[in-house]
Amino acid sequence: MQTNLAQWARESDLGQEADAILRRCVHCGFCQATCPTYQVLGDELDSPRGRIYLIKEVLEGKEPTRATQQHLDRCLTCRNCETTCPSGVQYGHLVDIGRQIVEEKVERPRMERVQRLLLRKGLTSSLFAPAYKLGQAVRGLLPASLQRKMLAKRDVGVIPHTAGQTRQILILSGCVQPTMMPTIDAATIRVLNAIGIGTQVVAGAGCCGALNFHLDDQSAALDQMRVNIDAWLPLIESGKIEAIVMNASGCGAMVAEYAHHLRHDAVYLPRAEIIVAHVRDIAQIVAPHAELLRTKIDPALLPERPVFHPPCTLQHWQGLRPLSEQLMEKLGMRLQPFTESHLCCGSAGAYSVLQPEISKSLRDRKLERLNEAQPDVMMSSNIGCIGHLQSGTDTPVRHWVEVVDAALVT
Ligand code: SF4
Ligand code: SF4
Repeated sequence: MQTNLAQWARESDLGQEADAILRRCVHCGFCQATCPTYQVLGDELDSPRGRIYLIKEVLEGKEPTRATQQHLDRCLTCRNCETTCPSGVQYGHLVDIGRQIVEEKVERPRMERVQRLLLRKGLTSSLFAPAYKLGQAVRGLLPASLQRKMLAKRDVGVIPHTAGQTRQILILSGCVQPTMMPTIDAATIRVLNAIGIGTQVVAGAGCCGALNFHLDDQSAALDQMRVNIDAWLPLIESGKIEAIVMNASGCGAMVAEYAHHLRHDAVYLPRAEIIVAHVRDIAQIVAPHAELLRTKIDPALLPERPVFHPPCTLQHWQGLRPLSEQLMEKLGMRLQPFTESHLCCGSAGAYSVLQPEISKSLRDRKLERLNEAQPDVMMSSNIGCIGHLQSGTDTPVRHWVEVVDAALVT
């Protein structure tokens, strides 16, 4: 694609980066076929090709409008288009740049600014845990739709002391997962312990930065990344820790791109590169030990008709498909096939709150496809997808590591 950038764009780092990405796009439109928002809305401007064109126009000097902003907002950042694109267009990085530039030029309505601020501050606040627990306590009094969103409190079970294991890895303490689904971290610790790997949580590290980054506060997100790097790096450099395990693929995808996000920070870029080299999805850690783990599993405790929904942040961002599926099969699960497994479930971070209609439509479509397999359990590997899918079904939705943990012979 030919471009004719405005002077301000030609002279800025972001403009030049965006230009290099834009030039790879040949406008073929293959990406339209796999874009969830285009499938739902049928508007070219809510497709990857349309959004690329909007960003190009802004870089060429056209003033963005509120409509431009809304078309970019409606993108789930699922990166399905990247998987499909034959020209290697890095749409995800381009839309980040486009959003940042449009955000500076177009002021959002007051209510929207307040909503985004509340989401950014609320979900990462120390008050989130007590507020969520209060909601769980009165869950039975809430309307059915809210009851499903406010997941029932589940017993985390006994968490083993794993400090004695020779191999040690770091586990992300995260922001919402320990409060909303503490069973995922507990299951991760037990499953890793079963294959001889101990886990540690580092004080000082926190949210990976994804929430702030995707809610228009990229500067706060970069600060969170630096804080995490400062907390993790000494342990990695000491040689006591061999990896950082991610059991939420949304966080994993974000941390795996720390070096990209900190590319203009001469001090933190080399540090971020070390962190990125040590980030592993939980499936990457467990897969080499599948045979050993299988000997510790009672097959009778595994579900009979499980399905696995691969999160976009696992399959399209990190390109890790079908590692998790292969691992589950090796552990003795018979995964049931279903159609449209490449398509987003509509969760996408805060998207389900900011774009509830599109999000619900995609969730219901995903559940329809999953239900075609008549599953007794639906599995995934990202807390956002798990909670979002569970809000629309009575079939249990779990992280796969919880399902494996429940089948461990103690
Ligand atoms: S598939 Fe790739 S090259 Fe084709 S229009 Fe989409 S982004 Fe551009
Ligand atoms: S990231 Fe997803 S929603 Fe956004 S344009 Fe690409 S395929 Fe469509």
